[in-house]
Amino acid sequence: MPKTSMVKRIARERIEALFELAVKVFPKNRSLAQRYVEIARRIGMRYKVRLPKTCRRLLCRGCKGLMLPGQNCRIRLRSKGEPHVVITCLTCGRITRIPLRAKRKEKPSTKEGA
Ligand SMILES: [Zn+2]
Repeated sequence: MPKTSMVKRIARERIEALFELAVKVFPKNRSLAQRYVEIARRIGMRYKVRLPKTCRRLLCRGCKGLMLPGQNCRIRLRSKGEPHVVITCLTCGRITRIPLRAKRKEKPSTKEGA
C-alpha cells in the first residue's frame, strides 16, 4: 500500500472519531463540539482528505457549524417532483437539499465542492 493512502486513511479515521466525539458532547457543550469539528476540518485540509459523507451531512455549509437533528436543524422530506430531503440549519437558516434519487454507484462528481 502506498504511503500516502495510509496517511489518508488514518486522517479519515481521526476525522470520523472527532465527529463522533463532537456529536457526543454537543448537547452538553456546543462550543467544545464546534472545536472538535474545526479540528476535523483542519485535518481534512491538511491531508487533502474530503470529509466522509456522514460527516459532511452533519455540517452546515453556511456557518460550518455542526447540525444535529432535533437540536439545531430541521429535516423535512419533500416528495413533490424529485424526492429530496431538506435540512434547515436553525443557527444561520441555511437550507441544504439532498436528492433521494436511487443512483447507481458512479465516480464522485467534483461539483460538490464545499
Ligand atoms: Zn448554519
